[in-house]
Amino acid sequence: MSRADPDHVASWYADSVPAQPLRPALAGDCHADVCVLGAGYTGLSAALSLAERGYRVVVLEARRVGWGASGRNGGQAIVGYGCEVDMLERLVGHADARVLFDFSRDGMALLKHRLAHYAIHCDWRDGHASVPINARQERGLRAGLVELAQRYDYPLQWWDRQQLGQHLASPRYCGAMFDAASGHLHPLAYAQGLARAAEGLGVTVHEQSPVLALARGPRPQLRTAHGRVSAEHVVIAGNAWLQGIAPELESRIMPVGTYIGATPPLGAERARALIRNDMAVADVSWALDYFRLSADHRLLFGGRASYSALPPPGLRGVMTRRMHAVFPQLKDVAMEQAWGGYVDITRNRAPHWGRLTPNVYFAQGFSGHGVAATGLAGAVIAEAIAGQSQRLDVFERIAHRPFPGGRLLRTPLLVAAMSWYKLRDVLW
Ligand SMILES: Cc1cc2nc3c(=O)[nH]c(=O)nc-3n(C[C@H](O)[C@H](O)[C@H](O)COP(=O)(O)OP(=O)(O)OC[C@H]3O[C@@H](n4cnc5c(N)ncnc54)[C@H](O)[C@@H]3O)c2cc1C
Repeated sequence: MSRADPDHVASWYADSVPAQPLRPALAGDCHADVCVLGAGYTGLSAALSLAERGYRVVVLEARRVGWGASGRNGGQAIVGYGCEVDMLERLVGHADARVLFDFSRDGMALLKHRLAHYAIHCDWRDGHASVPINARQERGLRAGLVELAQRYDYPLQWWDRQQLGQHLASPRYCGAMFDAASGHLHPLAYAQGLARAAEGLGVTVHEQSPVLALARGPRPQLRTAHGRVSAEHVVIAGNAWLQGIAPELESRIMPVGTYIGATPPLGAERARALIRNDMAVADVSWALDYFRLSADHRLLFGGRASYSALPPPGLRGVMTRRMHAVFPQLKDVAMEQAWGGYVDITRNRAPHWGRLTPNVYFAQGFSGHGVAATGLAGAVIAEAIAGQSQRLDVFERIAHRPFPGGRLLRTPLLVAAMSWYKLRDVLW
């Protein structure tokens, strides 16, 4: 199989989109109303929303459009954030938590609107199920469902084991919380579609243009190896790869590795027999399993959190064994490919969006839940730049503490925490 785009991490996603011509790197000095660092969903969404409002926008991307988490993820677009609403309530009280949750519903609506309005073809499918593997998780999910229905007016369905069995051919789960409004998509195709939409409105995207320094001030400047952009406003959307551009952001997120495997095509009939309604599925453990079918009838199966910068040894075998635990009927199938990337988790798993200075904005801390929320983040930042910061103000009321141990020690502390949560998933 030939790789369509050698600059992306090797994945089924990179193989299944047409190769994109390389956009020229930044060369020389230029000016913009807004300069965006990072061409993942967050940066591209901000650029698109700003261009819709008539701003001149330049995007600087270290590698390729969608090279980061946005081009590699599980493709599960889910209403809400990386933390549950009870955590939001603890952080900002019920009234603001309700407002934030409603914003996330707006984010899902925005995603679907953009797919239709800009004709972004990324294999959207409706439906998402959160599935418990034990009684403790089932109690938690059922309580969450009642709370979302009663206090957040958000309708979800509960399926018992038998009802779930009509849709999902796995013996592993004891029920499901089904969300008809969430769904799944082809992540890299979505990122490329956002870039095309933004460029159609005049946004300039420079690839292979890592930002080496940010000079803050009344007219901030971003410097690359071969050029500089000065702008009225800056949007930092670099996820876990910032590396010194804004240390106060980096200390508040922990990069955690998560991985995905893709089977060979299973054929329409065999694939559909696994997930009959074509929904996305995720369990609710700490190192969760998440899976869905691709448009060409593969099973895409993700999971296994890791604190290391290196991919775990024997990744394809690891992902194959995890898949067999969920679908024993695939014992004759092994992963054809496996890849991974970082999620940017905050201590409380709540989103970390705001302003570093009056003209430097950022959004990070999607905590593994960014496919839908990133679109919202970009739109909320664009609004704030345009002078309407009411929505961003609510996000800024969420307090975020740095990880203990700083950049060097935060990883060993996370390892201890992850071991504890994994043990808890097994024992309780
Ligand atoms: C394996 C995996 C599976 C996931 N599965 C899901 C899922 O199923 N559902 C879900 O909701 N979320 C999931 N996520 C999380 C989701 O993908 C992210 O939250 C989302 O893509 C973040 O988008 P972003 O634009 O903020 O960051 P990214 O997509 O990472 O983009 C950041 C960009 O900034 C660029 N950059 C960084 N530093 C610089 C610099 N100095 N100069 C220039 N450019 C720079 C990077 O090259 C990168 O392209 C998953 C993540 C991973 C890794």
